[in-house]
Amino acid sequence: MNPSSLQSGATGQSAARPLGVLAALPQELGDLIATMQTESGVLTRTLGQRDYHLGTVHGTPCVVTLARVGKVAAAATASALIHVFDVDALVFTGVAGGVGPDVHVGDVVVGETLLQHDMNAEPLFPRHEIPLLARSRFDADRALAQALAAACERFVAEEGAALAARFGAALPRFETTLPRVHRGLVISGDQFVASAAAVNALRAALPDALAVEMEGAAIAQVCHEYEVPCAVVRTISDTADEHASTSFSSFLTDIAGTYSTGILRRFLASYPVAGR
Ligand code: SAH
Repeated sequence: MNPSSLQSGATGQSAARPLGVLAALPQELGDLIATMQTESGVLTRTLGQRDYHLGTVHGTPCVVTLARVGKVAAAATASALIHVFDVDALVFTGVAGGVGPDVHVGDVVVGETLLQHDMNAEPLFPRHEIPLLARSRFDADRALAQALAAACERFVAEEGAALAARFGAALPRFETTLPRVHRGLVISGDQFVASAAAVNALRAALPDALAVEMEGAAIAQVCHEYEVPCAVVRTISDTADEHASTSFSSFLTDIAGTYSTGILRRFLASYPVAGR
């Protein structure tokens, strides 16, 4: 497919609305742009210092871009995807710190609910509540989250053993167990969490949190406000403690792309998902 046909108007007809796919860092996109290049060619538009790549990936018309790091960057990118590229839905892929007691490096977390852990307008509003929105938690789209989790389960079932062989030395728990797929609360804030004290404080404040990162809940807020479905999938690169920066860096360089590639290939091949 010619990527220019993604934009309505070129032929006088409006094409299927694309899916927005984003990550913070290039390693987290895996082979998406290379696959787009082979499958349809890539049309790139630069806007607000970001490159938006339009084309088809595994049969799905997509706009793929990098949000960069943090809530403002993520919100601005989500807004452009919605208003300039008219995306039908939005999926974020990347890495995160494990917070839940059973969430280990190499596991995958699919966000069912997202919250900004650093929002605090007390005493005017309850802790974590977004002022004037009257809520602290934003739901991912159920059908999208379900389809992402199914893609993760298939990825682990089909490639888990190979992952263990390839990355076992870097991820000690691979010696005995395969990575697990968790679903639940993902928390976001403008902070790389990298100490036992910081992660324990998050556990105490939000006992159901599974993973911490820096973008997901900002995207979920923008998507909530514009009624655009969204979902977030995060591979655990570290456990947000003193080892976080070393663990994050080696995971990002060596492993993150393998997960994104394997998960998104399965997800995009079955898109659009039933129930939407
Ligand atoms: N550009 C820098 C910094 C990345 S910050 C670099 O490449 O080194 C970490 C990124 O990974 C963020 O996008 C965040 O969403 C995610 N992340 C992974 N582990 C995290 C943790 N322990 N705390 C917060 N964010 C984490």
